[in-house]
Amino acid sequence: MTQLHPHLAPVFDEVLHRNPGESEFHQAVFEVLESLGPVVTKRPDYVDAAILRRIVEPERQIIFRVPWVDDASNVQINRGFRVQFNSALGPFKGGLRFHPSVYLGIVKFLGFEQIFKNSLTGMPIGGGKGGSDFDPKGKSDAEVMRFCQSFMTELSRHIGQYTDVPAGDIGVGGRELGYLFGQYKRLTNAYESGVLTGKGLTWGGSQVRKEATGYGTIYFLDEVLHSRGDSFEGKRVVVSGSGNVAIYAIEKVQQLGGTVVACSDSSGYIVDEAGIDVELLQDVKEVRRGRIAEYAERRPSASFTSEGSIWQVACDIAVPCATQNELDESDANTLAANGCTLVGEGANMPTTQAAARVFASAGVTFAPGKAVNAGGVATSALEMQQNASRDSWTFEHTDDRLEEIMKGIHDRCAETADEYGRPGDYVAGANIAGFNRVADAMLALGVI
Ligand code: GLU
Repeated sequence: MTQLHPHLAPVFDEVLHRNPGESEFHQAVFEVLESLGPVVTKRPDYVDAAILRRIVEPERQIIFRVPWVDDASNVQINRGFRVQFNSALGPFKGGLRFHPSVYLGIVKFLGFEQIFKNSLTGMPIGGGKGGSDFDPKGKSDAEVMRFCQSFMTELSRHIGQYTDVPAGDIGVGGRELGYLFGQYKRLTNAYESGVLTGKGLTWGGSQVRKEATGYGTIYFLDEVLHSRGDSFEGKRVVVSGSGNVAIYAIEKVQQLGGTVVACSDSSGYIVDEAGIDVELLQDVKEVRRGRIAEYAERRPSASFTSEGSIWQVACDIAVPCATQNELDESDANTLAANGCTLVGEGANMPTTQAAARVFASAGVTFAPGKAVNAGGVATSALEMQQNASRDSWTFEHTDDRLEEIMKGIHDRCAETADEYGRPGDYVAGANIAGFNRVADAMLALGVI
């Protein structure tokens, strides 16, 4: 482990002490603090105003009971969370995750990342995150609806277009957002479109929001390739996951001339040397909510493996789009040994710290999620903009805006890395550029 700057080590100690057992949150904080040494040296005013000590403490954390009745008439109890982390730049903004692994430490890590991600977009949005340990997998639509209605009954007190604007994340897509918005509308007696993003196109949603995280991920990586005079043309790519982020990342890679040869879900991975058939993948995962093995059953060129890691599949470019800490040190060694030269995080923190160090020492370019996957939340901000002006943009216009935003984020990260003497270090560039914008706003707003 690297040593933190003397001004930053006590901040991290305080985080460990205040948030016992929240290992993902500790990891996310450490990864940011590790980059900020040169910033605190240059800006003692940030230290004097305790910006670091304040930024690691959420403005507000809400934990609530979510009771609901399943199809067999049993009462079920889940736990709901909303961590409103930082609103210096705008209303809290970030998704809701429904997954059995969700606990306060996961929500805090995601909320903390979201502050810097949202800052990097250059848009007026603060950072927050929420969710529940509810598992939508295997539940009927009616059960998902009753759960969402109960969840929103409590959450509705804490959100609003000027306060906090949730969206989707793992386990929360169009279906869940529909039930959540319906209940919010009913409780408030108001069609407040701007309270949620990721809405359906017939009820206030934006074109490209569904595709945005995946497309944006590939737009970012395309910029990295351009900066070295290269492109996706002819590249062999592995994308982990098969959810909303992975599906549209795969589609965009293939539009740009690359071939995605593998993707996965929690049951295993498929290899398809002919290139992933996106329509078939969508049918299996989005329409039928099935397992990835069904893809291999329906596609002669594909095979399914339930053992081992998807990162054993050789590739030029790796795009982890599944979940946190899915790519560890040994995976990183395998990827580097197989000739991978670029890794971009489509998911939030999918790479362990040890794996990131392997990439750094092996000369593999590593682009972190808070920059790479910011296209999702950026397009959420475009959705808020359309809702506020009661407008609705075309697919082409929205996609152009997304591409422009991703190019802007790439350039901001690259220029900041250069400015701080770390050329090519996208981790330092993203952390410093994201942090500085929030820190300046916090300084201006006083001790609050
Ligand atoms: N959950 C997404 C993320 O990790 C999107 C958040 C949003 O659109 O508010 O950035």
